[in-house]
Amino acid sequence: MIAPGRAKRPGAARPLLDPPSPDEVASCPFCAGHEHMTPPQTLVLPEEGDWKVRVVPNLYAAFDRAEVVVHSRRHIRSIADAEEDELELVAEAWRRRAADEPGHVFPLLNEGREAGASLRHSHSQLIWLPDPAPPRARPRAETVFERNDLVVACPWASRVPYETVIGPIEPEADALGSARLAPALKLLADVVRRLHRLEGQVPLNSWLERSPQDWRLVLFPRLNVLAGLELGAGIYVNTVPPEEAALNLRAA
Ligand SMILES: [Zn+2]
Repeated sequence: MIAPGRAKRPGAARPLLDPPSPDEVASCPFCAGHEHMTPPQTLVLPEEGDWKVRVVPNLYAAFDRAEVVVHSRRHIRSIADAEEDELELVAEAWRRRAADEPGHVFPLLNEGREAGASLRHSHSQLIWLPDPAPPRARPRAETVFERNDLVVACPWASRVPYETVIGPIEPEADALGSARLAPALKLLADVVRRLHRLEGQVPLNSWLERSPQDWRLVLFPRLNVLAGLELGAGIYVNTVPPEEAALNLRAA
């Protein structure tokens, strides 16, 4: 439900990422020099010299397997602050770990405590699900812009303000084998920078959504707290129409 006139605009009472505490970096297990604070790595990239992206097991008993992909050796708190070469290695890490450990890999990232992140250092998660995630068809959407055979768009049925999808213009089956995955991650970082300019460092979720014929990265900003109506009835009251979100993101 799009309700632009309803109550306050986003930003009025949104949960922001809280500022770093003094010992955040000192106690961060994902920073360079703190490798002993994690379980032994399953992959580092590049394989020679100082690592830029590091993959370690995540001990969630609920799943077949779970791993964390650390996006940088520097203490950055958002994918928005990752360098392009780091994002290329993140895409390579997703691809290689999925190839090395067969199964139903679901890549996702959470930023901000309100979005489910327990550690602030920018990272993504690879979770091997017991069954494939439900296939999702490409949503009809308002285009923000196109670049490198990829389209950035805000779905007409956006559930939350600035919900955005990033995927190939022409449907493509194999996301993790695609040369477009790294450019898509760079576009995700670009859109998150635009979102930060518009709304500050809001918490967000992102994930790789797939159907047998197609894929896309979904950006799901958490400007509003999801409550009973959303969770119980599946009704999302979105105060920013997708055409306005697309216009704002394009201009930001
Ligand atoms: Zn760190």
